[in-house]
Amino acid sequence: MESPKTLQQAIQFFTDPENCRQFMVAVRWLDGKVRCPYCDSEKVTYLAKARLYRCYGDHPKQKFSLKVGTVFEDSPIPLEKWLPAVWLVVSCKNGISSYELHRALGVTQKSAWFMLHRIRLAIQSKSFVKRGGPGSAPIEVDETFIGGKTRFMHKSTRERLSRNGGMQGGSGKAVVMGMLVRGGQVRAQVIPDRKHNITEKIVRELVEPGTEVHSDEFQG
Ligand SMILES: [Zn+2]
Repeated sequence: MESPKTLQQAIQFFTDPENCRQFMVAVRWLDGKVRCPYCDSEKVTYLAKARLYRCYGDHPKQKFSLKVGTVFEDSPIPLEKWLPAVWLVVSCKNGISSYELHRALGVTQKSAWFMLHRIRLAIQSKSFVKRGGPGSAPIEVDETFIGGKTRFMHKSTRERLSRNGGMQGGSGKAVVMGMLVRGGQVRAQVIPDRKHNITEKIVRELVEPGTEVHSDEFQG
């Protein structure tokens, strides 16, 4: 599938809901077959008028949009805004601010901030599709500290780090969170600190509800 080359082209291309649909299907299912996010069945039909799919499986929530099961769900923001936003984030080598996104897409700055957060999280975890879901293997989540001991650092480095609140975890080390779907690959990312239940928030954003999650004794 041809993807847009300039911002103008991207916005124009993704204004068309049918382009968004085809684009999402192409990036989400390599074989191009849409599957139900609740039961993984391929027996689904597209309801063009409502722009929803319908599953014939025996479960509640038979209708679903292509956002279900991705980091784009739980928001009223349509794919027509999400997809050009992703395009912008991956195309701007120097990064993009929520203000620029707000201006370019005509969404509120609050929405733009939320979108940037979700898109960056997905890029870090290397997938827009949430982990877990129907028939998934359990997921293991843990945090660890990585980095040198502060007592071996030069005094100026140590002072700078503690001034900036830089490397957290109290010991001058970076906190890294890892997530593993059993039998799969580990996804690791640096998180600001171990406070404020950051790990729990990330798990809630990236893992399907109802998935079996294992961790250590740490409350986070
Ligand atoms: Zn289903």
